[in-house]
Amino acid sequence: MQNTRTCKSCGFSSVIFEEFSNLSLNLLPGASVQEMLQDILTETELEYRCDCGANTSRQQHNFVTLPRVLILHVKRFCFTQFFKLKKLSHPINLHGELMVSSSQVSTNSPEPNIHIWSVGVFNT
Ligand SMILES: [Zn+2]
Repeated sequence: MQNTRTCKSCGFSSVIFEEFSNLSLNLLPGASVQEMLQDILTETELEYRCDCGANTSRQQHNFVTLPRVLILHVKRFCFTQFFKLKKLSHPINLHGELMVSSSQVSTNSPEPNIHIWSVGVFNT
């Protein structure tokens, strides 16, 4: 994946390439796995002190290539405002295939789809 941070003030960008075989997705109530995957690819704001003195940057993750196997982990736990662990029991909409739009995959990638082969459910 390509992680791009861009200063909102001067526009300076830094790019980091990271290899992943698994991704952790935030459980979004009523959302499909496709939407949860899209959520981590959506541009976010972060606090970062740039050399120009500004404190706010944009961060964007993009797939450069798709791995042969990608493990998606849906985070079913969150912390409450009092820092207690809470299990989320929202149902998850799961389809047999995830589409990754062409803007997130380089043109060298032969197939912009991820096929779901297996689903594991762990109860605690
Ligand atoms: Zn800057």
